Amino acid sequence: MTSPVLALDVGGTKLSAALVAADGEVTFARRVPTPAAAEALFAALVDVVDGVICDAGSPALQGIGVSLAGWDELPLREGLEERHPGIAVRVRNEGVCFAVAEHWLGAGSGSANLLGMLIGSDVGGGLILDGRLIDGGTGNAGQIGHVVVDPVGPVCSCGGIGCLQAIARGPNVVAWARDHGWVAAGSAAEPELAASARAGDPVASAALALAGTAVGIVIASAAALLDLDLVVVGGGLAESGDVLFGPLRRAVERHLCVPYGKRLEVLASGIGAHAGLVGAAALVHRGDAYWSGG
Ligand SMILES: [Zn+2]
Repeated sequence: MTSPVLALDVGGTKLSAALVAADGEVTFARRVPTPAAAEALFAALVDVVDGVICDAGSPALQGIGVSLAGWDELPLREGLEERHPGIAVRVRNEGVCFAVAEHWLGAGSGSANLLGMLIGSDVGGGLILDGRLIDGGTGNAGQIGHVVVDPVGPVCSCGGIGCLQAIARGPNVVAWARDHGWVAAGSAAEPELAASARAGDPVASAALALAGTAVGIVIASAAALLDLDLVVVGGGLAESGDVLFGPLRRAVERHLCVPYGKRLEVLASGIGAHAGLVGAAALVHRGDAYWSGG
């Protein structure tokens, strides 16, 4: 029997670890808040990992997979390799892990040419073409959030102008709505904005339509470039439902006009809350298929 993978999901707000079996079953999951200070991150990670390994009775591990959002990869990987000698550690950003999770067990199961997109506090993504995970030069291929959608648009966290992320990341969509008169309680965020839009609020609807349209335009461009079968969209803002996906699909229809684009499907995430852990585990469990063409 194949040993489980120790999977870690290092997010901006939470830190999760679990064992993930070869069939994707997640067990012994633990979760803590992500420490604010980068120096405290590794200690918190070690605590969570040791807890999972102890709960599980120190099982043999197939490897360690890490889904990473917004942190430097190298010290994390080296630290894990030092603590778990002889065990392969694979680290990719959360967008890549989302894409492989959807490809393995979610909406992208069975699709050979897939773009996974995460629209949350950032906009990320990962690419699978001909069944292979596309890494690019530094393992960051698929970073669709930094594709330019409006050359005179807002400034992005990367320093660029008019990136998709600057327009469609959840907090920016909420900020746009507030700037245009959407009135909501102090901490109201993406779920409240989506509820407002569904209730017919015109500003909330316009904010999500703007984001959905921008996402749709970028999907159309990506599909024209890469001849994709499928785009799977997940992340917090994607839970808005039709108020986001309606304008998104209309933009894809309007802008993706090449004949081979007609077959493109755009689906909402099918993998649920454990996507980061499942994707991190897939880096190891499915590594041979993704990187060796098997
Ligand atoms: Zn950018």
